[in-house]
Amino acid sequence: MVLIFAETQKGKFKKTAYEAVTYGYKTAQILGTECAALVLGTASGLEELGKYGASKVYHVPDAALDNFDSQVYAAVISEVAGKAGANVIIFSHSALGKSTAGRVAARMNAGSVSGVNSLPTVEGGAFRVRKGVFSGKAFAEYEVKSDAKVLSLMGNSIQPEASGQPAPVEVVSAEVPAARVTVNKLERVEGITPLPEAELVVSAGRGMKGPENWNIIEELANVMGATTACSRPVADTGWRPHHEHVGQTGIAIRPNLYVAIGISGAIQHLAGVNNSKTIVVINKDREAPFFKAADYGVVGDLFEVVPRLTEAMKKFKAEH
Ligand SMILES: Cc1cc2nc3c(=O)[nH]c(=O)nc-3n(C[C@H](O)[C@H](O)[C@H](O)COP(=O)(O)OP(=O)(O)OC[C@H]3O[C@@H](n4cnc5c(N)ncnc54)[C@H](O)[C@@H]3O)c2cc1C
Repeated sequence: MVLIFAETQKGKFKKTAYEAVTYGYKTAQILGTECAALVLGTASGLEELGKYGASKVYHVPDAALDNFDSQVYAAVISEVAGKAGANVIIFSHSALGKSTAGRVAARMNAGSVSGVNSLPTVEGGAFRVRKGVFSGKAFAEYEVKSDAKVLSLMGNSIQPEASGQPAPVEVVSAEVPAARVTVNKLERVEGITPLPEAELVVSAGRGMKGPENWNIIEELANVMGATTACSRPVADTGWRPHHEHVGQTGIAIRPNLYVAIGISGAIQHLAGVNNSKTIVVINKDREAPFFKAADYGVVGDLFEVVPRLTEAMKKFKAEH
């Protein structure tokens, strides 16, 4: 059986949870088995996961699981997976998924692949998945030979498909170990799509000259309904908050559209954005390395190009 860990935030499912269930359902079809979902802590609308392909939803409602602790989550998820007879466990490749999948794999003696971006293939009994490697410059195919398999699914690799029926919810008990981490305060950025889930991203770098100029980036992002991101030096110098930093040492994203404004395209930056489906680069230096990775490029001064692009977007939106 395939078991999906369906991630919630404030008791509601994230888009990546629906992606993971859709992926799990399709994986189960390939393997000729069922797909179930697992939800931890206080949450609502669990039966909805059935629409995305879960035949059953396991729920451990213990309020101690409302705060995330990867050791505690790994213990509970492994226990439920064992009881349910699941041998493929799928996480979203989020901060939570990344820090928990490896622990679950160790507990279940499972082969694990993190950040997969396509459905598995099974040929002659060989279970293979694909992921991006070398900063997104190549794909690697991994064969997982162990009986138990743990995967984490890169965001925006599959579109959620809700065509099924609500699923029955089964409340299950599991031993919840004492957490070693105490959460004293939680500050969440509200009202925007978090970067790992964003389909449209407008990102800017040191070419912006200073934080006081970011209004043109925010305006463009608002018109597009995009999430804002930035290069590392921009976050390091405090021009923008750290949660916007993308790249090798920041968040790795895979949006449908990544607009890079005043960013040179250093390899460490590209490592986190190379998997974007379409890349648009705006830079005044035609030799900027980012143009090599771009699908579309504008050579020009961002302070002229961005406001004009925003105006063109507004006009387009008004007309369509
Ligand atoms: C171990 C390590 C890890 C790193 N991890 C990351 C990471 O995760 N993410 C990351 O981003 N970086 C990372 N870096 C830093 C990376 O190497 C680059 O230094 C950084 O990405 C450069 O940021 P930038 O492109 O914003 O700035 P710059 O390199 O200064 O580029 C600014 C660009 O803006 C353009 N520009 C200037 N003015 C204008 C204008 N008016 N109109 C249009 N274009 C203009 C310039 O032509 C230039 O291309 C890492 C470095 C190391 C060593």
